Formats: sequence, structure tokens, C-alpha cells
Amino acid sequence: MTELTDFQRKTAAFLTGIELRFHEPLARHTSFRIGGPAEVMAFPGNAEELSKILKMSALLDTNPVILGAGTNVLAPDAGIPGLVICLKDCLGGMERLSDTTIRVMAGVTMTRAAVFAANLGLSGLEFAHGIPGTVGGGVYMNAGAYGGEICQVCTGVEVMDRQGNVRRLTNAEMGFSYRHSVLEESGDIVVSADFALIPSDEAVIKEKMKELMGKRSASQPLDLPSAGSAFKRPVGGYAAALIDQAGLKGYTVGGAAISTKHGGFAVNLGGATARNVKDLLKQVSDIVFEKFGIRLEPEVRIW
Ligand SMILES: Cc1cc2nc3c(=O)[nH]c(=O)nc-3n(C[C@H](O)[C@H](O)[C@H](O)COP(=O)(O)OP(=O)(O)OC[C@H]3O[C@@H](n4cnc5c(N)ncnc54)[C@H](O)[C@@H]3O)c2cc1C
Repeated sequence: MTELTDFQRKTAAFLTGIELRFHEPLARHTSFRIGGPAEVMAFPGNAEELSKILKMSALLDTNPVILGAGTNVLAPDAGIPGLVICLKDCLGGMERLSDTTIRVMAGVTMTRAAVFAANLGLSGLEFAHGIPGTVGGGVYMNAGAYGGEICQVCTGVEVMDRQGNVRRLTNAEMGFSYRHSVLEESGDIVVSADFALIPSDEAVIKEKMKELMGKRSASQPLDLPSAGSAFKRPVGGYAAALIDQAGLKGYTVGGAAISTKHGGFAVNLGGATARNVKDLLKQVSDIVFEKFGIRLEPEVRIW
């Protein structure tokens, strides 16, 4: 058995009662199926436990990395020294606040949130059905699809700062822009988000969700590990179209490749490393820039 590090011993002593795993492979927690071990991975069961972990981190002068469903991250092959906090199975629950508003905890998947709204006959989250991440990750990223975006429906967010204190931010304070929110700078953690929706016919909402899911499965390589769109939409074009026009579908580096089905997706063909994916994204971005003078920037968060 591997001997515990000093940091692992300290976290175990400080965080009794909270689920901790040592040397936990990040590949098990990312949709790319890539990533070496986290020195410590914590699985808080609720907001109080999350707050306790953050207070301990401040005391130990360590800055934990936050993981949702891991569907938009490229985790390093060498793993993460220190602490990763996994929120996917924590912070669950959804409630109706008024006729047209709902509150969703950060660990709920966006698909479940969309279904919850649909069951209440509330329209506005159809676009989020099929985005495989959590509401926390979606708010952080201002996730969007098919013309919808989190920032269009999110009216407020409850966040926890790195000292474990909770406060509310309005939509304006969230500083949303394309695939970005102020949380990227502040480091605050999403605890829950409120959504203002529009009353509509449940069957019509569900039909729309079905239609969008059909579009996804027809166009995206959902059978292979990926992190969704590898690149942000550049000004003056679409990443997938530019990659396609550059003849880069199927372009491969080690076990990583540009999907033959969708030029915007980088996929793990089996055994891809984070290095392979990084090299792939860099080479593709360079080739597209050479051909079209447009620079593609990664959408996937490279840790
Ligand atoms: C097949 C596939 C299709 C996809 N389609 C879309 C799409 O249509 N549109 C789209 O926008 N995205 C899409 N994605 C990407 C991804 O699902 C979204 O970006 C999603 O919002 C990420 O959520 P997550 O919980 O997986 O976050 P993670 O991948 O776990 O984390 C992403 C970032 O958010 C941070 N984060 C996570 N949770 C929190 C929290 N509670 N508080 C603060 N920060 C947090 C992390 O630190 C990290 O920096 C797709 C991915 C896949 C694999």
C-alpha cells in the first residue's frame, strides 16, 4: 500500500466523517476518461460539509480544485497534488419557488433540471436537456446550446466563497458572457441557482427536448469519451465548420482524435493522454489559423 502523504494525513484528521479518497484517478470522474490521481478527493455530502472542507483548506493554505460531472475538463496525466472537491453527488435537490421560478442545487444534472421544469409545465430549460454536466458547472461555464444559454434564464445564484461563507449574486453580478462567468475569476462555488421560466404546455416542452436530443445523437459522437465542443465558437465562423473545411476530421495524435462525425469534438479513441489531447488541440488550432487566419481557443477547461 502507498504510504500516506503529509497532506493526506492532515485532511483525514481535519475532515473526519467526510468521504475522502486518496490517489483517486481523475479519469474515473471525467467524461474524457483522462487524468491521473488526485492526492485527495473529497465528496462532501451537503453544503455544511463543503463549507467545512473550504475552511480547512484555508487553514492549510491550499486551494482546492472544484469538479462537477467532469464533462468539460481535461485533467493532467500527472494528476492533481492537493485537494479536489467533487460536487456531482452532493448538493442535490430542486424546488419550485413560485409559479414561474425554480431553484436547483448545483450537483443536479442539467438534464434532470430540464425534466423537472418540463414536468411543471415550465419552458426555458429545453436547451439544457442533453448537456451532460451539473447545474454548478453549467452556471460556471454559462453553458448553452441550440440558441439557449444559462444566462438567459438564471436570475440568481447562491455561491460559497473559499472561506466557506455563502451569499447570493444576481444575474448582473454573475458577469455572464459567452461560456464564461465571474466565478472563473472569483473562485466562488455554485451552491444553487434560480431560474425564471415561462408557463407552457408540458407536451410541447417535452417534444422540443426530444427534438434537440435527436439532433445531438444524430450529429455528436456520443459513443466515444469527449468533453463536448473542444473549441469555443470563434468570431467569424464555427469551429466545427473550419476544422471540417481544413480537412481535419479524423486527425489523430496518439489516442486522441478529431471526431469523424463532428469536427468540433475531440474524442478519446482509447488510451488517450492529456498530452495527446493538448497536442491535438494545439495542432488543429495552428492549422486552422494558417488556412483561415482564425484562432481557435479551447472551450474545454485544461487543468
Ligand atoms: C457529449 C457532450 C456534450 C456537451 N454539450 C454541451 C453543450 O451543448 N453546451 C455546453 O455549453 N456544454 C456542453 N458540454 C460541456 C459540459 O457538459 C458543460 O460545459 C457543463 O456545463 C460542464 O458541467 P460539469 O458539471 O461537467 O462541470 P466540470 O466539467 O466538472 O467543470 C467545468 C468547470 O466548472 C467548474 N465547476 C464545476 N462545478 C462547479 C460549481 N458547483 N461551482 C463552481 N465551479 C464549478 C470546474 O471547476 C471547471 O472549471 C458537453 C459535454 C459533453 C461530454
